[in-house]
Amino acid sequence: MTAQLINGKDIAAKKRVEIAKEVQILKGNGITPGLAVILVGNNDASKTYVRNKEKACQELGMNSLLIELANGVPEQELLAKIEELNDDPAIHGILVQLPLPDHIDERKVIETISPLKDVDGFHPINIGRMMTGQNAFLPCTPYGIMVLLDETGITVEGKHVVIVGRSNIVGKPVGQLFLNQNATVTYCHSKTKDLKLHTRQADIVVAAVGIPNFITADHIKEGAVVIDVGINRNEAGKLCGDVKFDEVSEKAGFITPVPKGVGPMTITMLMYNTLKSAAESLNQ
Ligand code: NAD
Repeated sequence: MTAQLINGKDIAAKKRVEIAKEVQILKGNGITPGLAVILVGNNDASKTYVRNKEKACQELGMNSLLIELANGVPEQELLAKIEELNDDPAIHGILVQLPLPDHIDERKVIETISPLKDVDGFHPINIGRMMTGQNAFLPCTPYGIMVLLDETGITVEGKHVVIVGRSNIVGKPVGQLFLNQNATVTYCHSKTKDLKLHTRQADIVVAAVGIPNFITADHIKEGAVVIDVGINRNEAGKLCGDVKFDEVSEKAGFITPVPKGVGPMTITMLMYNTLKSAAESLNQ
């Protein structure tokens, strides 16, 4: 392997130490950051994500409140619960674990969360604020990617960044964060013609597609930075990313592994956003 590994696990651990210190300072000011997580139904993957978020809160000295609702909960009941949390001064962050059952309108749910407690950064107000470069809660996975690059000493300004994937939670916002840092950004997606034509020009490639081993050595130029957001299972059931690691790591300059790459940063930035919300509540 010639590429330098970007170790998300170590960078996340370093950030968590910093967050834990800030939590103690806030506690000294009488505020304990509190995150409320709402889980609807019995999705096993969602249960694991929620458990990991609770664990992270405990490790960092924050309060966590888990609210479990039945799969058939009426939409109105869920919205009422969110309103209640919006008004609760002990709660600084509200997260509704996605996906939601079909009878619940995801947009309505996201828009009911107060933008001041929207630590996932999914509310249109926070997205608009991010787009216009104002203070905002940044979506956790894209934010984590920017922190990984910063901590590795990779300059973004002036770089050509090609994002593969345009989802609302990863592809679109991460492109915006690169633009905010003066990169030149190209978005590619399922309707892009000749993907390689674009990715081969990139100084930085972000793969957020959800297809195992989709990005091969042929997609990238020598020395490029390759960020793999994918969390997939290969045919053998093993966790893998969107990037064919073995061959791309022989050609790239920097690469994130899966696991221990982008993944650990997502919850870390959620913790950071909850801390930020608690700190800002001092001034409200
Ligand atoms: P998504 O399914 O919402 O979006 C996938 C995107 O890939 C779409 O925009 C689509 O246009 C694009 N795409 C599909 N086929 C393509 C093709 N042939 N060529 C080019 N583009 C193509 O997925 P998502 O929610 O953005 O997640 C992407 C991956 O990242 C998944 O594996 C997911 O599990 C993972 N993920 C990881 C984290 C993390 O914390 N590391 C967080 C969120 C998502």
